[in-house]
Amino acid sequence: MKLFRCLALIILAILFCATSLPATASTLIKDMRLGNQADGARVVLDMNKSVNYRVFLLNDPKRAVIDLDDTDINSLQTKFKNQVVSKTRIGKMSGNDKRIVMELSRAATVKKAFLIPPQSGQGWRLVIDLVMSTESQFKNKIGNSYALTNNKNFAPTEEEKSGGWFSFGSSEEESVTKTNRKRIVVLDPGHGGKDPGAIGVYGKTYEKNVTLAMGKELKQVLQNKGYIVYLTRDRDIFIPLRQRIKIAQNYKADLFMSLHADSAQNRNATGLSVYTLSDTASDKEAAALAERENKADIIGGIDLGGNTKEVNDILISLSQTDTRNKSSKYATYLVQEMARSVKLVKNTHRFAGFAVLKAPDVPAVLLEMGYLSNRTEEANLKTQSYRRKLAEAAARAIDKYFQDPEIASN
Ligand SMILES: [Zn+2]
Repeated sequence: MKLFRCLALIILAILFCATSLPATASTLIKDMRLGNQADGARVVLDMNKSVNYRVFLLNDPKRAVIDLDDTDINSLQTKFKNQVVSKTRIGKMSGNDKRIVMELSRAATVKKAFLIPPQSGQGWRLVIDLVMSTESQFKNKIGNSYALTNNKNFAPTEEEKSGGWFSFGSSEEESVTKTNRKRIVVLDPGHGGKDPGAIGVYGKTYEKNVTLAMGKELKQVLQNKGYIVYLTRDRDIFIPLRQRIKIAQNYKADLFMSLHADSAQNRNATGLSVYTLSDTASDKEAAALAERENKADIIGGIDLGGNTKEVNDILISLSQTDTRNKSSKYATYLVQEMARSVKLVKNTHRFAGFAVLKAPDVPAVLLEMGYLSNRTEEANLKTQSYRRKLAEAAARAIDKYFQDPEIASN
C-alpha cells in the first residue's frame, strides 16, 4: 500500500512536470551541411525524423529560405558557407516552427528539394539543391515554393528582419554591391585523370599534378585578396576542354586562367610564357603547343567537343573583339608581374588556337609555367615555395587587371 501511494505520487509529479513544460519539438535537426557542386550548391539537413518544410527565395538581399515545422534546431553549430551561400541564420517562427535563412552571394534558384528516408546507416535527410542562375531567372522564381507541407500557410514574410535572429558564418562578410562587386576568377588546372599532360624526364613529374597544385595555391592567394575563385577541377579527374569553358561560363567568370607546364625535346629549353587566343598562331612553336594541349580531348576519346573545323572557326570569330582585348590586357599585366619573379621565354605573350580559351564571353589566358623537360624547372615546379612565388605574381597581375580603368568600369 505504501509503495502504491509512493508510485502514484511519482506519476502525478511526472504528469505535472510534463504539462508545465513547453511541448518538445518533434523533429531534431542534428546537423546542416553545405557542399559545392559544379553548377551550384547542395544543402543537407540531418534529422531524426521526417519534417514538413517549405523552401523559397526572397530578394534584397538575395536569400533562400527553408521553413521547418515543429523542429528543434538549437544544437546546430556548423559554419554554413559555400560558393552560393555567404551566410546562414536561424530564427524562431511561431511555436516550434523554425526558419533557416541562407544569404546568397550570387543569383541562384532552387533546382530540387526532397526528403530521403533513413538508409545505409543515415537518418532522415532533407536535401536542397541550389543552382546558379541569371538575375532574371532568380527574379522569376521569387516567392515560388518547393515544399512538402501540411497545407499550412507559409506566406513569405519579412519578419526575420526584426529581432530574435542569430547568425552563423563569418562576420567579416562584405556586402557585395554592384559598383564594387567581388570578381570571379575561374582557374583551370590543365589535364587530369587519364590525361597526364607533359611528363618530366627527370623526376617523372606529371603536368596534371603540377597544374592542380598550382591551381590550389593560386586559389588560396586570390581568396585571401577577396576574389571569388573556382577551380574547373580540384582532384585528379579528366574534364574535356569544352566542359572547362562551360564551367567558366556557368560561374560567370570575369577571368579564366588555364594552367599548364610544357615539355620540349631540347632539355635546355626554359621559361614561362603566356598565351591568348588567336586564329593564327604567333609562330610555329606556339601552333605546335596549341596542338599538343588540344590533344587532351582526343585522349579523352572525343574530338574538340564534337565540333567540325568550320564550327570551331565560327566560334573563334564569334569571340568578341572586346573579350580578346581584355584577354590581351590581362596577359600584358601577367607578363609584367611574372618578369619580376621568374625567367620568361622571349616574346612571352604569344597567340595560338587553344581550344580551352575559346569562350566568346570570358577573357581567358593560358599560362605555361615552365618546362618539365628541364631539370631545374621541373624541380622548381615541384616545390610549393616556387608555386607560391608564381601565384603571388599572377595575383598581382589580376589586381592590376581589375583595377585597370577600362576593366573596373564594367
Ligand atoms: Zn598542358
